[in-house]
Amino acid sequence: MKPFSYERATTPAEAAAAVQRPGAKFIAGGTNLLDLMKLEIETPQHLVDVGGLNLDRIEPTPEGGLRIGALVTNTDLASDKRVRKDYGVLCRAIVAGASGQLRNKATTAGNLLQRTRCPYFYDTNQPCNKRKPGSGCAAIGGVNRQLGVIGTSDACIATYPGDMAVAMRVLDAAVETVNAAGATRAIPIANFHRLPGSTPHIDTTLQHGELITGVTLPRPLGGTHVYLKVRDRASYAFALVSIAAVIQRDGTGHVAIGGVAPKPWRNEAADAALPQGAKAAASRLFAGARPTPENAFKVPLAERALAAVLAEVKAA
Ligand SMILES: Cc1cc2nc3c(=O)[nH]c(=O)nc-3n(C[C@H](O)[C@H](O)[C@H](O)COP(=O)(O)OP(=O)(O)OC[C@H]3O[C@@H](n4cnc5c(N)ncnc54)[C@H](O)[C@@H]3O)c2cc1C
Ligand code: SF4
Repeated sequence: MKPFSYERATTPAEAAAAVQRPGAKFIAGGTNLLDLMKLEIETPQHLVDVGGLNLDRIEPTPEGGLRIGALVTNTDLASDKRVRKDYGVLCRAIVAGASGQLRNKATTAGNLLQRTRCPYFYDTNQPCNKRKPGSGCAAIGGVNRQLGVIGTSDACIATYPGDMAVAMRVLDAAVETVNAAGATRAIPIANFHRLPGSTPHIDTTLQHGELITGVTLPRPLGGTHVYLKVRDRASYAFALVSIAAVIQRDGTGHVAIGGVAPKPWRNEAADAALPQGAKAAASRLFAGARPTPENAFKVPLAERALAAVLAEVKAA
């Protein structure tokens, strides 16, 4: 690991100002960033620990939704009574991820910002445009069974690996931030993660030094909430395909897919087609898909997973 300096911020303004230093990064639970630093995939010169900020509460919003502080741990979020009652898809997505110990440390903001699990991103002997811009992409033409089938580019076919954000996408959450000048903004989760294009090293629309302060959930949608994660092992594995769905009694609803794209994948045409069944919705979700020979199985797998979700909802 490269040497780095460290400080612990006490207010969001102080944290946002401190991270303006060249090579500075925030650290929260450290469960992703420290692994990347040990492998020298990320080499920050200075860490600003946000763990002391007062951002660990879940509060109702005036609009009837919930505001989740950036430091709320995955464990606390998934066990919150209001989340369990009104946002079941979020609770189920979180407990489908990682392990109990990791969820005790992992924070809401850190989870949103976890980096891809593409094996070549982790292998510093291999070319990877996301790790080293302009170096090439070893996954294209390499072992890419786990990687993306849609939203990818000629520069990168990695997926966004997380579970929580897929549920947040179906719930239309917004990510709240503050910068060093004190300016705040709310970024719809649909616009938070980026498609790679020719700049796959930039994962999100956050600007350098912008601190995530929380995530807001709109009013509860009602309906039946399901999160189905299909993976190679029954636990402690990232999704090959995951389905986050909120379905109403009349068959209308919302669906987002994980494990298939550089961001949680959703489109309005697929939502509109849900009453016609999984085939109709999946054909809209995967319109324009560019799978590789190794990962083409993900498209029919996602359709079947969605069919299983709709059948589960019907039987509920
Ligand atoms: C073995 C293993 C298995 C896992 N399995 C899963 C899984 O199945 N599903 C899943 O979803 N996840 C999984 N994870 C990922 C895990 O959930 C993430 O590592 C964790 O959520 C990251 O949160 P953190 O608080 O530890 O982030 P950190 O590691 O502290 O930070 C991650 C990134 O977020 C930035 N950051 C942190 N807080 C802020 C803030 N407030 N504002 C701006 N930037 C910030 C940091 O600078 C860093 O770039 C797994 C991890 C491991 C190690
Ligand atoms: S798919 Fe993306 S992350 Fe993986 S090697 Fe290619 S550029 Fe790197």
